[in-house]
Amino acid sequence: MRRIKVRLQAQVEMCVHRVVTYENLASEWSPDLRFFVLVFSAENQAGTEALRQSGLANIAWIEGKGLQEGDIVVPVRDKQEVLVLLREADAHHSLFMTNRCNSYCLMCSQPPTLGDDGWLVGEAIDAVRHLRKSPPVLGLTGGEPLLLGTGLRQVLNAIEQEHPTTHVEILTNGRLFSNRQVVSDILDGLTMPARWLVPLYGHCNFVHDFVVQTQGAFDETIGGLLTLQAHGQQIQLRIVLIEPVLRVLPELAAFIGRNLPFVREVALMGCEPIGFALANRELCEVNLHEWGETLERSARTLRRFSIPYLFMNAPLCALPQSLWSDAHRSISDWKNEYAAECDGCAVKESCSGLFSWYERGWKPAPIRPIKQAETIV
Ligand code: SF4
Repeated sequence: MRRIKVRLQAQVEMCVHRVVTYENLASEWSPDLRFFVLVFSAENQAGTEALRQSGLANIAWIEGKGLQEGDIVVPVRDKQEVLVLLREADAHHSLFMTNRCNSYCLMCSQPPTLGDDGWLVGEAIDAVRHLRKSPPVLGLTGGEPLLLGTGLRQVLNAIEQEHPTTHVEILTNGRLFSNRQVVSDILDGLTMPARWLVPLYGHCNFVHDFVVQTQGAFDETIGGLLTLQAHGQQIQLRIVLIEPVLRVLPELAAFIGRNLPFVREVALMGCEPIGFALANRELCEVNLHEWGETLERSARTLRRFSIPYLFMNAPLCALPQSLWSDAHRSISDWKNEYAAECDGCAVKESCSGLFSWYERGWKPAPIRPIKQAETIV
């Protein structure tokens, strides 16, 4: 999530606001929303203050390099900063639902905490209400969103009401869908277009349970997947390519083909070098280039079972050329970078590039700019 240094009018509410330009305030203003008016001059600032004094209590001025009109932001308490929850111009949009989790994955990019952060449900609903344009896809992430129970359903209902054309993608380990009450709270009567992104790290319990550091997780996740299928929900399986997973990837691909043929697709994902992945570096840092044959074999198996798949967070130069057409630009805009070596690479436009923190962590493979001649097959 972006943090932007700002100057803010005094005594603003520490909650969600939409950023609007002074010129467009009149056309966007609504009594049930809050607005930060992006000011570039003393006149705009004085004008905003005058409007507020005259009774428009839901507006306040803001000044900050890097803010954009339409941003959905929330001020950080005791700091001259805002968090940008959503930005219209981004290719990927997601809302953070909770930092709590019931798993403890070796490569977790967002290590869980225990504190009660139930207020994030209200913030997410507020963000959805303040969003000016409906994004084609909106992700809900965590932590583990299923821990929110009815809170998650409230967010889904708000999205359906405010943005009926938006497809929702919920990143969940799926384990709590083995609990009937959770299933009823979240899935009963759910008709909106939703896709559940569920990680599966092995074809057997000891591999998956080891990766998520939780005994019994494999059985619960498989139970959750079957529940989603029974409720007619779309599923994307997610496989993060760390060493313990790569060692069994062909077997996992065959397991999916034989036992979970109903999944919409399988996402094979490069590991994000941050959070627990740094602490478990010896298991998480891989050179994908050295696993090319395993990736090709697993992809062949998925194709044999007619299961669509894609690669995410994997630069093209880390993959065998036979898999380039399956690779997607998937890294969220605010954490996406390219290395200096990428300048002049013939496939940069279609390459996912790297996570911004690759220098503190690692690259998924040695970066090797592709020459134009190599792209002709
Ligand atoms: S050199 Fe850079 S742009 Fe080219 S394929 Fe590798 S990571 Fe992508």
